[in-house]
Amino acid sequence: MVGAGRFAPSPTGDFHLGNLRTAILAWSWARLTDRRFLIRMEDIDAQRSTDQAAQRQLEDLDRIGLDWDGPVLVQTTRAEAHRRALATLHERGLVFECYCTRKDIREAASAPHVPAGHYPGTCLHLNEDERQEKREQLAELGRAPALRFRAPRDQWTVVDELAGEYAGTVDHFVVQRADGVPAYNLAATVDDAFEGIDQVVRGDDLLAQSPGQAALLWALGAPEPTYVHVPLAVNSSGERLAKRDGAVTLAELTDEGWSVGDVVEWIGESLGVSRARCAADIAEALGIEGLRAMSRDPWVVVPPRGRRR
Ligand code: GLU
Repeated sequence: MVGAGRFAPSPTGDFHLGNLRTAILAWSWARLTDRRFLIRMEDIDAQRSTDQAAQRQLEDLDRIGLDWDGPVLVQTTRAEAHRRALATLHERGLVFECYCTRKDIREAASAPHVPAGHYPGTCLHLNEDERQEKREQLAELGRAPALRFRAPRDQWTVVDELAGEYAGTVDHFVVQRADGVPAYNLAATVDDAFEGIDQVVRGDDLLAQSPGQAALLWALGAPEPTYVHVPLAVNSSGERLAKRDGAVTLAELTDEGWSVGDVVEWIGESLGVSRARCAADIAEALGIEGLRAMSRDPWVVVPPRGRRR
């Protein structure tokens, strides 16, 4: 059976060079390992996602030469499946209500035994009377509890093609936000399982989330994919590439006189490939060995002023 790789952007704005590079890498990994390649629009964050951004992102992917199999999966259409998964976790005793505010968590999380950024466990062991009392207190404030994953183990090891075996702490992360919206980790995991994704290529800012996602896949009875966490693009100060760094999107660069091929060539050069004009040129030049051997250092994007006009 052929598996599937995917690219799963959040449609919150135009892609910058780093996102385009990750997309090319995800596509190359899928195609060079005979997998289907799927696109999923992770639009569950309704406040930040727009249809226009989704459309522009797909156009950019098409312009740099990516193709994908079947229709784009739009995450908000999967609400029923996300609810069912939450119900399954509930039946299996793998979620618990959390009544904490951000401030509560910040204060409790500064305790020395809590790993940085992790949930301090405040609501993990409450009994039913305590829960009822907390629920009522929240209801008086017009708030509802969030749901968190009752992690089956502290540690989980995933296999990453670039990082090797990666063991990380499984946090009791939020699976349903207090406003009832499924959280990113839940939605992404449920949809990966639904789409038969067995290869997850994405930015390495998400490497630390992968043990938790793998544990959640296990909890839902779904197989674990292979991961490929690729380095991010940064500016010359080492910060993540962003709008303030000048012309960094395809639209901005073409406005400055670049052709799409020039932009792909630039991305190719960051991967040690010369004269690439479309994604397939990069995939072909790298081959699977080149993909495996890529540097894990961030791509430092230095604006090549006047290089191609
Ligand atoms: N939607 C997430 C993002 O754009 C990526 C999720 C993933 O690839 O798992 O950061």
